[in-house]
Amino acid sequence: MGASIAGLFAARVLSDTFDRVTLVDRDELLETDENRRGVPQGRHAHAILPAGTRGLQQMFPGLLEELEAAGIPVVREPTEMHFAPGGHLLCQEGRYADPTPTYQPTRPQLERQIRARVKKLPGVEIADRCEVAALLSAPDGTRVTGVRTVERGSGAERELAADLVVDATGRGGRATRWLTDLGYQPPTEDKVAVDIKYVSRTLRLAPGALGRRKVVIVGAEPGRPTGATFLQHEQDRWMLTLIGYGGHHPPTDAVGFLEFAKPIVPADVFEALCAAEPLDEPVAHRYPASVRRRYERLERFPDGLLVFGDAICSFNPVYGQGMSVAALQAAALRETLVQGGDRLPHRFFRAASRRIEVAWQMAVSSDLALPQVEGERPLPVRLTNYFFDRLMAAAEHDPALTQEFVKVSSLLSSPLILLNPVTVGRVVLGNLRRTSRPRR
Ligand SMILES: Cc1cc2nc3c(=O)[nH]c(=O)nc-3n(C[C@H](O)[C@H](O)[C@H](O)COP(=O)(O)OP(=O)(O)OC[C@H]3O[C@@H](n4cnc5c(N)ncnc54)[C@H](O)[C@@H]3O)c2cc1C
Repeated sequence: MGASIAGLFAARVLSDTFDRVTLVDRDELLETDENRRGVPQGRHAHAILPAGTRGLQQMFPGLLEELEAAGIPVVREPTEMHFAPGGHLLCQEGRYADPTPTYQPTRPQLERQIRARVKKLPGVEIADRCEVAALLSAPDGTRVTGVRTVERGSGAERELAADLVVDATGRGGRATRWLTDLGYQPPTEDKVAVDIKYVSRTLRLAPGALGRRKVVIVGAEPGRPTGATFLQHEQDRWMLTLIGYGGHHPPTDAVGFLEFAKPIVPADVFEALCAAEPLDEPVAHRYPASVRRRYERLERFPDGLLVFGDAICSFNPVYGQGMSVAALQAAALRETLVQGGDRLPHRFFRAASRRIEVAWQMAVSSDLALPQVEGERPLPVRLTNYFFDRLMAAAEHDPALTQEFVKVSSLLSSPLILLNPVTVGRVVLGNLRRTSRPRR
């Protein structure tokens, strides 16, 4: 259920084990790079972190090479990236230690390219314009046996029998309600109310307007709960996404939108924005809260059903984790299936939860560093945030620390690597030596 990024990843993995995989989506899935209704976030900046890029490499060999050949910008060097999380502009010297670069297709293009590959897999069928209306289940409710779909337009209903149903219908997914209908407890939810608004616009920049930079990311910081992501796509098209927490939401009128960017982005980027040609109107997206559904804690769950992607965990999008965590969940699904079908939901949810944990903790701690975000700040969170702030401060002038930080924030390494004595020593020394430097 759901043929967006997570549904496509799940289908890729399932096709190795099952003879037939049917992807059902309520949207019409066109072979164009237009955004579609079911994925409103596709109109906003979407970066796939290196952990997600690795997943793409493994699941779809050749895809990344084709994207690059088609002119999609690829970020390989620190000089190509202006990355300023938490008020610290990370060092732009040196080389990235991990060879996985960052690819910057637009979100609709990435999805279309992945879909084209999934469609070609043996036994895979995609049924679009088909809404899943209900689960089918065994009379005693212990097993999900398929889904009932309603075709959009004609309203024709169809029952689709299945050995396994995967709910990848996004953060609004209905699995929790359907579980209750079947007599099961819904999962408990961990929630962090971030109250974020995204406003985005596509622009054409003069070639080379930003020199070598292909991406500019300025995160929110305690004194300024606003941020910006500015991504180069193909053919000198750029996507500017402005972000605001709490009452600091960006406006959607063209003049206000530009003014909002001014105190956030570097001066030369602002100049380039003023000279840029707008290619569409600013469009908004509200994101009230990060939500993690704790399926792994449920004692009773029907056989024949899994929940996947944002339907399990939807992260504050400013950290760009969703698609990469979907790729990590795909790896968890592969591992679980290889070990057999016994107690599949239980084993999958536990394996997925381990993959989600690090990303969730990093997103939640970073959000709690902002006073605008409500929530308890126990001592470990305060200590972690203090350490990360000092690490980023030292990383402003230290390429090695920047590398370590980027590996962790890209979900390539556990944050525990940052606690090794060499790294901690560099953080301490870096802060002792720290000289004033323009922030951002
Ligand atoms: C503003 C914003 C910006 C983001 N930026 C990033 C980023 O930079 N990097 C990143 O990695 N992630 C980002 N994300 C997260 C990313 O979009 C998701 O993690 C990713 O799309 C995977 O989600 P999904 O496939 O689980 O669900 P979705 O993408 O939400 O897709 C759900 C699918 O289910 C279909 N569907 C829903 N209900 C039904 C039904 N009843 N029957 C049939 N079909 C149904 C929908 O049509 C849709 O195709 C962002 C999210 C937001 C909101």
